[in-house]
Amino acid sequence: MRQDTVVLQDVSHVYVNNRGAFLAVEHMNLNVAQGEFVSLIGPSGCGKTTLLSLVSGLIKPTAGTVYVAGEPVSQPTSKVGYMLQQDYLFPWRTIYENASIGLELMGRKTAADKEIVNQLLDDMGLSRAIGSYPHQLSGGMRQRVALVRTLATEPDILLLDEPFSALDYQTKLQLEDLVASTLGALNKTVILVTHDITEAIAMSDRIVVLQANPGRIRTEVKVPTAIRQALPLTAREQSGFHELFHELWKHLEEKEVHPVNEG
Ligand code: ADP
Ligand code: MG
Repeated sequence: MRQDTVVLQDVSHVYVNNRGAFLAVEHMNLNVAQGEFVSLIGPSGCGKTTLLSLVSGLIKPTAGTVYVAGEPVSQPTSKVGYMLQQDYLFPWRTIYENASIGLELMGRKTAADKEIVNQLLDDMGLSRAIGSYPHQLSGGMRQRVALVRTLATEPDILLLDEPFSALDYQTKLQLEDLVASTLGALNKTVILVTHDITEAIAMSDRIVVLQANPGRIRTEVKVPTAIRQALPLTAREQSGFHELFHELWKHLEEKEVHPVNEG
């Protein structure tokens, strides 16, 4: 039986700052199985990034517990890789140097470690760019470098926060296929945040719909096998795709249970 590798148990999170306290996430329960690909969708401000930050250990829940691989999370670990919407590559470092920074920070500099980075750069079609600098690369290439950097430390779990949203449509579709096939082959556990319903359907095993004010899980939808088994580009042509799109659209349109106070 597959084991749940990410577990949120009745998690709530309150941000406190000089303007007061804000309940960003309330009573969330979520289980993600080893090797599963789960997408989070929902309106801006519903707590998607907060949820990833909680799983990564960057912030601690105000109430409840987050477990990764059976252990309560108390700080960031190399088990979890976090990739943000912006690539945050260092402009003064080459592509190779950017891709290997995580390993470098861990003090991993053996020939085998270098081979991991080179192999990933090759898999991502970046082997000819290893000596280039970020400004010489397209947006899609930069996101691929950021993905290599995240994968190089060999995390079991990947948290992807809108990784394709700044890209043009065609690049985004190509990258979806590349990421889905790469992560699938490595059997990674993935939590993807996206505002694109078609991307969520095309890439995931399961979609979690969140609502805002406060952030809560509204519903979960399983993606049918035929769509799951296809790569994202052809997944969009499978029967059942449009029906699922409309179902999710309806869930997102449902009125909030609580009054809206912020976007
Ligand atoms: P999403 O990623 O779904 O857009 P976030 O998780 O970023 O949502 O934010 C959820 C809510 O928490 C939002 O209303 C946001 O304004 C608030 N929030 C996020 N980060 C902070 C913070 N550091 N301090 C105070 N409020 C925050
Ligand atoms: Mg966000």
